[in-house]
Amino acid sequence: MTDLPARRLLLVHAHPDDESINNGATMARYAADGALVTLVTCTLGEEGEVIPPALAHLAADRDDSLGPWRQGELAAAMKELGVTDHRLLGGPGRFRDSGMMGVEQNHRPGAFWSADVDEAAGYLVEVIRSVRPQVLVTYDPDGGYGHPDHIQAHRVATRAAELAADPAYRAGSGAPHTIAKIYWNRVPRTVAEEAFAHLRATAPDTFPGIAAIGDVPGVANDTLITTEIDGTDYAEAKAAAMRAHATQIALTGPFFALSNDLGQPVLTTEYYELVSGVPGAAPGAREDDLFAGVTGADQ
Ligand SMILES: [Zn+2]
Repeated sequence: MTDLPARRLLLVHAHPDDESINNGATMARYAADGALVTLVTCTLGEEGEVIPPALAHLAADRDDSLGPWRQGELAAAMKELGVTDHRLLGGPGRFRDSGMMGVEQNHRPGAFWSADVDEAAGYLVEVIRSVRPQVLVTYDPDGGYGHPDHIQAHRVATRAAELAADPAYRAGSGAPHTIAKIYWNRVPRTVAEEAFAHLRATAPDTFPGIAAIGDVPGVANDTLITTEIDGTDYAEAKAAAMRAHATQIALTGPFFALSNDLGQPVLTTEYYELVSGVPGAAPGAREDDLFAGVTGADQ
């Protein structure tokens, strides 16, 4: 374990593209700084809608070959971010995209939403005990915006963090490991409001419509935000990673749309809420580093 980099960051996401939208600048920044950045994606996003007409045949209701395609998009995105350690929970295709809440795909065999949380968490415990991250980033309990796979990713990540630390859990398969700090992805409400105002003022006709603030995952009152990662230097890397997810994201300047054609701002400063661990900033101040205060994580 002595050959691991001093700082190790684990991110758990539901589908390929979530990591680039939520954390692209953070991932690029820490990878460039020499930290080990590990991404675990829980499904291949097989149920996603496809934006480019020429690729519409990949969709679940036609060829049902979107999963492997998105695996390629994810690999290309990770290249843009400089992230070399990206994994699929339980291996490719172990858990399938569950579709939006309430559709029949929620309950098809293999759907991530129907998976046993402890069983799915077991795969993540293996990763945690081998990579030994000091920092875990995932979604809030609502998955940021209520998508079943995002909610399940939160549950699995949270459970895995507990189990990985428990010496009695699968004793003998990797030394127990306690993650020092756990964060949820957030967007401060005032930042979202300003960014949407900017979009309406400067590019009102770029997209067929403009998203509502409620469509942005993780929006929360500013007082909940503990941590702000300045990704200005990595804005290009984040944009390139988002462009790599071409079946899912249409990027125009500092704005993007998903398959619903509703414009949203691309945020290059990324925000977090520390929910477990000791804050590395003075009371009332925001951290500017996910590893702030972590013993042994100095550069
Ligand atoms: Zn997603």
